[in-house]
Amino acid sequence: MMIPAAIELGVELRVLAETEGMSAALAADRVGDYTDASTVLEFARDVDVITFDHEHVPQDVLRALVDAGVPVRPGPGALAIAQDKLRMRERLSELGLPVPDWARVETPAELDEFIAAHGGVAVVKTPRGGYDGKGVRVVRSAGEVGEWFATIAEDGQPGALLAEELVEFRRELAQLVARRPSGEIVAWPLVETVQVGGVCSEVIAPAPKSAGRLADRAGDIAFAVAEGLEVTGVLAVELFETVDDRVLINELAMRPHNSGHWSMDGATTGQFEQHLRAVLDLPLGGTGTHAPWAVMVNILGGPEEGTLADRTPAALAGHPTVKLHAYGKSPRPGRKVGHVTAIGADLDDVVYEARAAAAEFQG
Ligand code: ADP
Repeated sequence: MMIPAAIELGVELRVLAETEGMSAALAADRVGDYTDASTVLEFARDVDVITFDHEHVPQDVLRALVDAGVPVRPGPGALAIAQDKLRMRERLSELGLPVPDWARVETPAELDEFIAAHGGVAVVKTPRGGYDGKGVRVVRSAGEVGEWFATIAEDGQPGALLAEELVEFRRELAQLVARRPSGEIVAWPLVETVQVGGVCSEVIAPAPKSAGRLADRAGDIAFAVAEGLEVTGVLAVELFETVDDRVLINELAMRPHNSGHWSMDGATTGQFEQHLRAVLDLPLGGTGTHAPWAVMVNILGGPEEGTLADRTPAALAGHPTVKLHAYGKSPRPGRKVGHVTAIGADLDDVVYEARAAAAEFQG
């Protein structure tokens, strides 16, 4: 999704794709292993700036790029925080930013102690490699994550899990901002994200009833994170709005993020274009919206036979006001294979239209 934005900006984009047939390979110059420093250095030889569409590029590869004089945005220091949920909690706490009560737990006994101190329940997370709720478990005893304790020891070092209070939240929100190396920073409206089974299902922009204090608080938090961690590019700050009116940070993503897909069709500058502007240190684009409401609904691979492409003609015919983005991914049940966005003046109508279209594309 960065490719059309690059074309429109007149920026030449080169892609290093993981394997043939990945969406990024639609325009790939190179297929190669992003965990191999020499492959990435070779790829980076004649680019001005390197950026990412995920956070999993190892630190030694990032450092090798920096040592070779390649501008890496966001930089290794910022990415290290996004790559590891324990370091994220540590750093955000150091910055004095609001996070759920948390602890680093190295043994089942330490976890049981945390559970006992938090009403008999905790959320346990593997620090690295989780996504879409994989690596997140609500537990009432350490035995429920026994196998995680068995596998976390890395390189003979004692490993650790992240234990958190089970936050009672009213809803989940996300604040997207973009920051360029010169320090310019902009925010899109605060959005509400709806998760089903740990996977983002829809996003409402702006978050209903968020104008004023709530939006200001979320904006202040996201600016403090972007500046405190010196993030360059798009930063998504996932938040909990708690039942007792606190706003807590759950997760950070330092790249265009699912919570910002709506901006491609709902805002003056979409997140992919903004990410490119930011990492290239170009002036950032406006973040105003085209309509009072934008609703994005993910299209997931379903149990039915047939691909998204098979269903597309009929679904397009039924929903001419909805914008489709198909990712060219082979469908697996539950896998995000595309999304739709609807915009308009009446929230109920916009939600109805986006959900109806997504259901038809999903099959
Ligand atoms: P992932 O990195 O896999 O997306 P997250 O840490 O964002 O994992 O957690 C996935 C979902 O689990 C969140 O969107 C939220 O719904 C729920 N969750 C995570 N942490 C907590 C918590 N401390 N309290 C309550 N729910 C949580």
